Amino acid sequence: SIAEEGKYQLISPDIATCQACLSELLEPNNRRYRYPFTNCTNCGPRFTIIEDMPYDRPKTTMRYFQMCHQCQEEYNNPLDRRFHAQPNACPKCGPKIELVDAQGKAVASPDPIATASRLLRRGNIIAIKGLGGFLLACDATNKTAVKTLRERKRRPFKPFAIMVTNMGEIKRHCHVSPEEEKLLTSPQSPIVLMRWKKDSPVSQEVAPNLAYLGVMLPYTPLHHILLRDTGLPLVMTSGNLSEEPIANDNDEALRRLKGIADYFLIHNRDIYSRYDDSVAIVERGINQLVRRARSYAPYPITLPFKSKQVLGCGAEMKNTFCLTRDNYAFLSQHIGDMENTETLEHFGNTISLYKRLFRIEPEIVAYDLHPDYLSTKYAQELSKSGSKLIPVQHHHAHIASCMADNGLQSPIIGVTLDGTGMGADRYIWGGEFLVADYKGFSRLGHLEYLPLPGGDAAIKRPYRTAIGYILSLSGENALRRLAFMEQVSKVEVEIIKRQIERRLNSPLTSSMGRLFDAVSALIGIRSKIDYEGQAAVELEMAAYKACPEHSEGTNDNESYPYSITKDRGMRIIKLGELFQAILEDLKQGSSKARISVKFHNTVAQMTKEMCQLIASETGINQVALSGGVFQNRLLLKKTVTLLESNGFQVFTHKQVPCNDGGISLGQAVIANFAK
Ligand code: ZN
Ligand code: ZN
Ligand code: FE
Repeated sequence: SIAEEGKYQLISPDIATCQACLSELLEPNNRRYRYPFTNCTNCGPRFTIIEDMPYDRPKTTMRYFQMCHQCQEEYNNPLDRRFHAQPNACPKCGPKIELVDAQGKAVASPDPIATASRLLRRGNIIAIKGLGGFLLACDATNKTAVKTLRERKRRPFKPFAIMVTNMGEIKRHCHVSPEEEKLLTSPQSPIVLMRWKKDSPVSQEVAPNLAYLGVMLPYTPLHHILLRDTGLPLVMTSGNLSEEPIANDNDEALRRLKGIADYFLIHNRDIYSRYDDSVAIVERGINQLVRRARSYAPYPITLPFKSKQVLGCGAEMKNTFCLTRDNYAFLSQHIGDMENTETLEHFGNTISLYKRLFRIEPEIVAYDLHPDYLSTKYAQELSKSGSKLIPVQHHHAHIASCMADNGLQSPIIGVTLDGTGMGADRYIWGGEFLVADYKGFSRLGHLEYLPLPGGDAAIKRPYRTAIGYILSLSGENALRRLAFMEQVSKVEVEIIKRQIERRLNSPLTSSMGRLFDAVSALIGIRSKIDYEGQAAVELEMAAYKACPEHSEGTNDNESYPYSITKDRGMRIIKLGELFQAILEDLKQGSSKARISVKFHNTVAQMTKEMCQLIASETGINQVALSGGVFQNRLLLKKTVTLLESNGFQVFTHKQVPCNDGGISLGQAVIANFAK
């Protein structure tokens, strides 16, 4: 391979161990029997070991290992599966695995993986160096082990994923559709969120209060051996503390995961790029990524136009960035929540890597309107070195992202149901009905503005949002006798009242995510959250209780009233009647499940009605759905069904997350068309 100025090539993501390598791994007479770094041209690490292009061993972290005579022969032989396999290795010449304790002291063992399996069976937590970073593993059927991991990781509720040996084992734990099976066994081998069987021996602690379980199959030789030796489903969650990026270096892992892991299964092949596991769902037969990382990035999204060289910096939560050139959008792997210096550093380093790998020098930099996002600040720094800056409204970016995901270009009705995003009027938007294309958008409707007392405090404590909404819509009397109010002190209620009256740190919002939060808190499901969206997620879960096994059971259409007004061309969805009716249902003793189902129906209904109103004015009948609220599968299903049965052509996300992980793609395509 010869480096050429400006020339670039696409880079294969890391992909799961192939069948041929797996057979060698399990064959006692093979020279690679139980060798955890077995790979060939059809599988193995790629992107995570590449430091620069062209892709040759000296430019990867494999350069420290000199191939032995046998490996070299395979590498040189055009008829061999390992012809020009840059990471080719064997037990004689390649990387080695080692087990160390929490102090970093070697645990003497002839077979570190077998020893690790024994320790896992005894309830220990082990940090395992994988493809793109460390994963924390423990026995998923051992409640105490999982609880301990939660305490040490300071993650009381956020769901963990599990890894199991094979497809048969997955079916013990989840209901698996043929499409889900296909995705699970694909070379990408992502985590797939599937309906969790009630009689699965996996502890409820793995995904507390949830009806879905995230499961993946082994995707490296190390995983295959470990899972077979252990014979148990294992929790496999990112090796980090709360929201820090995944640890990828031995010393870093020992330092940062000290106090979390009892042992470390490490090796001496360096990871150049952090790479979290990808997460996908299959809904209505369509695969959809909710976290795009391992095995997908850095493979580009193909754009329906020839692009300039642009950088989209993304938003704040679940950040990714996006670089475009020619017909490609190189969307980065999931970077993380941009709220600490480690993540910001990871963001900056990964941008440099992509720029180098794909020979991109962005002339234009797009960023979110929110002035406080670290990604926005990063963009503003770049303007000093002469880049042209283009601000992009958050929900316009969501819709453009969905359009690019589907290869669309003409104006479309864009429905963004989202948590938080800075609006063009500086209010917090998130229940938005737009007509948009890449060149621009008009906002034709939204949820009515309501106060968010305490701003971020209300996001973390949804009861504050509920109180704010009820005070505004139903008045103070309505707060009396509500069960969730027992958790709230009189003093706090007074503070909230004052914040709203005087508009002190009490921004107005049209967010659909906050409406879900408010209803969740109001009906007594979740008042405080541990992870983004928890209150809304548990509200969705409540609906499934109205329909055992939550397949298609919630097809009753009962909904709550609401009204739509029109003010100077803007349609506003008024929520007073909705809250009144929910309060009435609570008084009548309706179950949370019933209220949740009716609420979901109402949101689908109002979305359909708004689309009809906009369609009658504009003649557009194509609708794009985006925004984090559409991770709610019940709402997604109901909304799509209702829109389609009313003659709309509906586009949803596939390759790119509907959450803020897709924002950078939208920003980059919009900036391409900016004047
Ligand atoms: Zn292979
Ligand atoms: Zn060798
Ligand atoms: Fe968003």
